[in-house]
Amino acid sequence: MKAVGISGDAGRGLPRASAVVISVGTELVRGEILDTNAAYLSRELAEIGIETVGHVTVGDDSEALAEAVLRAASACEVVIVTGGIGPTPDDITRDAVARAAGVELQRDGAALAHIEGMFASRDRRMSPSNAVQADFPRGASIIANPRGTAAGFRVKVARAEAIVLPGVPVEMKMMWDATVRDYLAAMGAGAAITRTVNCFGSGESDISEAIGDLMQPGQNPLVGDTAEEGIIKIRIRATARTRTQALELIDRTKSQVKARLGDTVFGEDSQTLESVVVGALLERGLSVTVAESCTGGLLAKRITDISGSSGCFTQGIVAYHNDAKVTLLGVAPEILAEHGAVSDQVARAMAEGARVGAGSDFALSTTGIAGPTGGTSLKPVGLVYIALASADGTVSKRLQLRGKRAEVRDRASKHALNLLRLHIMR
Ligand code: ATP
Ligand code: MG
Repeated sequence: MKAVGISGDAGRGLPRASAVVISVGTELVRGEILDTNAAYLSRELAEIGIETVGHVTVGDDSEALAEAVLRAASACEVVIVTGGIGPTPDDITRDAVARAAGVELQRDGAALAHIEGMFASRDRRMSPSNAVQADFPRGASIIANPRGTAAGFRVKVARAEAIVLPGVPVEMKMMWDATVRDYLAAMGAGAAITRTVNCFGSGESDISEAIGDLMQPGQNPLVGDTAEEGIIKIRIRATARTRTQALELIDRTKSQVKARLGDTVFGEDSQTLESVVVGALLERGLSVTVAESCTGGLLAKRITDISGSSGCFTQGIVAYHNDAKVTLLGVAPEILAEHGAVSDQVARAMAEGARVGAGSDFALSTTGIAGPTGGTSLKPVGLVYIALASADGTVSKRLQLRGKRAEVRDRASKHALNLLRLHIMR
């Protein structure tokens, strides 16, 4: 189907500025931390119509960085450098970028006063080494850092704009939002925006059956999917002359995707099963408790990962041993003896006991064989029962999950959250 209003790939054909993102830090080069800054900046640059043509990672080496900046500046219009603008001797970025620009470093009085003010407001003494954070290449424009002492800057290197930001992701993102995005947007042409629709509970083949026609290559928006840890993400990428037009294109396709996929869709973009479930419970003033065997607390962890979950999560019980299922959850010993711990009956009894014990609106339970040991021909590894008890009664589900121990536990906890989600949303 052709998009209405804006024909084809409207952003294409326009002269696009290109960018190289340089990440500085020996920890990055050694693989001790992951470079999330480059990924974030590339996505953001695409949204304002600037194409990232490369990522470069350099250790704390001034000469190597100066060289990398110069090389990037000769290849594109925008060079963004993150990291290495702190006060310690291994923070070499200001020196390296000044070298690449062919200018000296100069101390800025207003920036120095800002740093002194930051220390004073935190009741800390400023050490002399912090003063270097007020040094900038001559001719640079300073980019304020509302969160930290390390201000960023932009300076011309050859024909390119070099933009220097702190390595700390929250500071970098705040400065991008506050200043840099709008400044660079003028250089971009068109916008490329990606949004995702997140699904749980059906396979990729079901999804491609339902929305395969929208996933044909060459369309705008372009629709694709990725499967990760049981969650299928439908990615919708639109290009257009403006951000607003791209968002309009996305919204239209998103509605189609959601209508066709129905209740397997649980959320969008960064939403997770747990964030959606906690949100829905809080909205309705309802509470949940959990009784876990094979997930060993993972379900409680997932729920409490969400800030504000104290408003809906009462308590969690990990009843691993049969005796604990009896004493903590009131599961009848006869049910355990007759059906075994991994059974529909026990899952239901666990949920019902937990709900009464906690006085919550809902109780979720899990019991299963996570493996790799403990499976039998009748109850193989990956067999999990989950149950949901509520004022309406108890529902349960038998799952036969694949994968290693961690995967079985991960999927079991997701299925349990999904059982509750579907119940609340109905
Ligand atoms: P500071 O004043 O805090 O020293 P800085 O600009 O010198 O700021 P770095 O010292 O390079 O920043 O990095 C500070 C921390 O920020 C790192 O320890 C790391 O945790 C995080 N960080 C730096 N670069 C990246 C990156 N590219 N991706 C993700 N995290 C990063
Ligand atoms: Mg540092």
